[in-house]
Amino acid sequence: MSKIHKDMTKILFDAETIQNRIKELGKEITKDYEGKRPVIVCILRGAVVFMTDLVRAIDLPLEIDFFSISSYGSSTKSSGIVKIRKDIDTDISGRDVIVVEDIVDTGLSLEYIYEYLKHHNVKSAKVCVLLDKPKAHKVDIKIDYRGFDIGNEFVIGYGLDYDEIYRNIPYIGILKEEIYK
Ligand code: 5GP
Repeated sequence: MSKIHKDMTKILFDAETIQNRIKELGKEITKDYEGKRPVIVCILRGAVVFMTDLVRAIDLPLEIDFFSISSYGSSTKSSGIVKIRKDIDTDISGRDVIVVEDIVDTGLSLEYIYEYLKHHNVKSAKVCVLLDKPKAHKVDIKIDYRGFDIGNEFVIGYGLDYDEIYRNIPYIGILKEEIYK
């Protein structure tokens, strides 16, 4: 078990548990996309760490691109009003796209991303998320590959930040409330 970071109350998933789950997700994706060449769209910045491990667990020819959106609101609560910070560079029309996202909270970001992909006439769109907070969803959202379900606590590590730090912690834990309250 990893040593707990001083700003966490609890470790939810240690590095080994995360890697084992990613291997399973990679196998599933490899099977589902046999004979295809999907475009992996990594949502910056939180999904970067997850995406780099996930693609190495997928045994297929694939392309990687990045999409960055921002929602307004406080740093621990999303409001769902989204703007594009960095667009996808690849021509995704007619392509099989797999969106890789760190965490689904309200689902509003994913709803926006699905709309965006539809407008760009992709052949298919699936979503792979590491963490899902099912009790926090405000919209009905399709999630094709899901690492783990969690409660409504604010988590950090393995790509997930608070105020742009903690992304390099190799495991996932709950941030102490006193850090953001
Ligand atoms: P949604 O649009 O689903 O409400 O929010 C998704 C985004 O909110 C995530 O991509 C992530 O950036 C942020 N977010 C939601 N919950 C958490 C959390 O527990 N920890 C961190 N670090 N970010 C979160």
